[in-house]
Amino acid sequence: MGEGNSKIVIIGAGFVGATIAYTIAQHQLVHEVVLIDVNRDKAKGEAMDISHGLCHMGQMDVHEGDYSDCADSDIVIITAGVNRRPGETRLDLAKRNVPISKSITENIMKYYTRGVILVVSNPVDVLTYLVQKWSGLPNGRVMGTGTGLDSSRFRTLLSQKIGVDIRNVHGYMIGEHGDAMLPMWSATNIAGQTLDETCVAYGIDPLTDEEKEELLSMVKTGGAEVIKKKGATYFAIASVTASICETILKNQNTIKTVSSVINGPQGIYDVALSLPSVVSNMGVTKVLNLKLTEAEQAGLDSCVQKMKSFLAQVQATQYDGLER
Ligand code: NAD
Repeated sequence: MGEGNSKIVIIGAGFVGATIAYTIAQHQLVHEVVLIDVNRDKAKGEAMDISHGLCHMGQMDVHEGDYSDCADSDIVIITAGVNRRPGETRLDLAKRNVPISKSITENIMKYYTRGVILVVSNPVDVLTYLVQKWSGLPNGRVMGTGTGLDSSRFRTLLSQKIGVDIRNVHGYMIGEHGDAMLPMWSATNIAGQTLDETCVAYGIDPLTDEEKEELLSMVKTGGAEVIKKKGATYFAIASVTASICETILKNQNTIKTVSSVINGPQGIYDVALSLPSVVSNMGVTKVLNLKLTEAEQAGLDSCVQKMKSFLAQVQATQYDGLER
């Protein structure tokens, strides 16, 4: 860590928020981590639990706090909200999480002085769009983890399939963090080689269309399967989020599939979704214009249509308890 006080505020100290705090502490990314939750005891308990292990990680200040801590924060991460209950639609989830995110954004903006707002709560693309609008911040200063987790799952599965170190596997899921997401097969590469070339080099048959579909289905259902087995997902999303935080804090200009409000790239306007984007200490500073195959372009077009119609549905909904 460099000189001066660097700070991350995490709103929501549930499974996801607490695990992000722990991951940030393990990587010693900042001097100060603040946890905020409507359940103050939960936030305090998580901060205490992480602090009790700091002698094995390094000196930092992990504590429970309130919205005034957002002042001078490098990153504010929103993880508050609820998970989808069995049988619930995405709109049902939005109905519960939109009012929560609105009141959180208003509270953040009372104290905001600088930094990036990073949305993790679901539906992440819709909430990224709305928090960007509600905050009034320059476009890109608000971003969401988007398909970061899905890209991570995609890379994991490919690495397992081929038997190659995951750090050599580059691949991007784009579009929606949801069913309409799509893989950029054309940009997938392993240490600079195409997927097919790598398969040949490893003495295995190139993936058939059926195998690709199966892999995509595993990416899409991976989260639900983890939830079915252990009740929630939090380790992988915490790693994804901590990695985005490192990029922001170190101003690395790394290309990541994160969600932001797109205005222009790929001819897409006024919707938040994930495309490979340059991430710096100012948030998303550039969204790449991709060379897609015809099939990928058609997939992205239909994803955009679906996302826009869902966003319109969410915006047309009457919300109770906006004062929460
Ligand atoms: P959780 O129920 O364990 O935790 C949510 C926390 O938010 C609780 O501690 C609750 O007290 C708090 N909270 C609720 N309303 C609040 C408010 N107004 N202000 C402050 N705190 C408030 O849930 P979780 O498993 O941690 O999941 C949190 C969110 O993250 C969910 O929306 C989930 O869908 C999402 N998630 C996103 C991804 C992704 O890839 N984007 C992955 C996993 C989970």
